[in-house]
Amino acid sequence: MPFYEEAGLKYFTLSSFDELGINHGFFSRRGGVSPQPWASLNVATSVGDSRENVIENRNRILGIFGKQYSDVFDTWQIHSDIVHCSESPRPVEVPHEKGDAVITSNPQIALMMVFADCVPVLFYDMKKNVCAIAHAGWQGTVKHIVCRTVEKMQEHYGCQARDIVAGIGPSIGVDHYEIGDSTEQTVKESFPEETERVLQRRSGKTYFDMWQANALLLERFPLRSIEIAGICTACDVQTWYSHRAENGNTGRFAAVLNVKT
Ligand SMILES: [Zn+2]
Repeated sequence: MPFYEEAGLKYFTLSSFDELGINHGFFSRRGGVSPQPWASLNVATSVGDSRENVIENRNRILGIFGKQYSDVFDTWQIHSDIVHCSESPRPVEVPHEKGDAVITSNPQIALMMVFADCVPVLFYDMKKNVCAIAHAGWQGTVKHIVCRTVEKMQEHYGCQARDIVAGIGPSIGVDHYEIGDSTEQTVKESFPEETERVLQRRSGKTYFDMWQANALLLERFPLRSIEIAGICTACDVQTWYSHRAENGNTGRFAAVLNVKT
């Protein structure tokens, strides 16, 4: 689980993806052009930052992989269980489709999704050379977006679960993720057999372990491997954006994945 520094950017990678030579990274908030409260490598226009800043920031990130912002396939993330496959980038003048997972087998495309506490889950099928990113906040987690993503890889690309490696990136850890009664009820309904493994109780409060919850879902297939970065965004807002720790007034960092040529 190394950190790299390149071209003024600092990013984190998954060891299991590095071993396969896959272009990918979770980009810290350092090294971009956005002012506060988005300082500085914000990649989302939905948070009030300017389009010019976001394009510059995206280009700095994508340049590390020899790509630019027009090579991206991304979606308008809505905490759903909708999965999109694409073999071409999203034309920059075309509005995003709504959805919370993206899949491609095209090396010309960089998949990108944006995060600030929600769980980024990366997938790579080493035999079919197909990659995917899922966005799993608490809603995506209880809707099992990661399962819908693997199922789509199987249906659309003929992937086998045993060939897929997965990685759970920087996101809010259980220690910082207190939930209320109605969310707790939804989690219990979504994980009836595993409630005790995904919920923790301390001092009368309930905490949701989204890393564990998504890993448990993926173990059902099972996949070839599941790596958990174990990096909490709310613990380190100098490095990551955290919606919870910054009271919703912050940017979004990028998870990027690109199929091998
Ligand atoms: Zn934390």
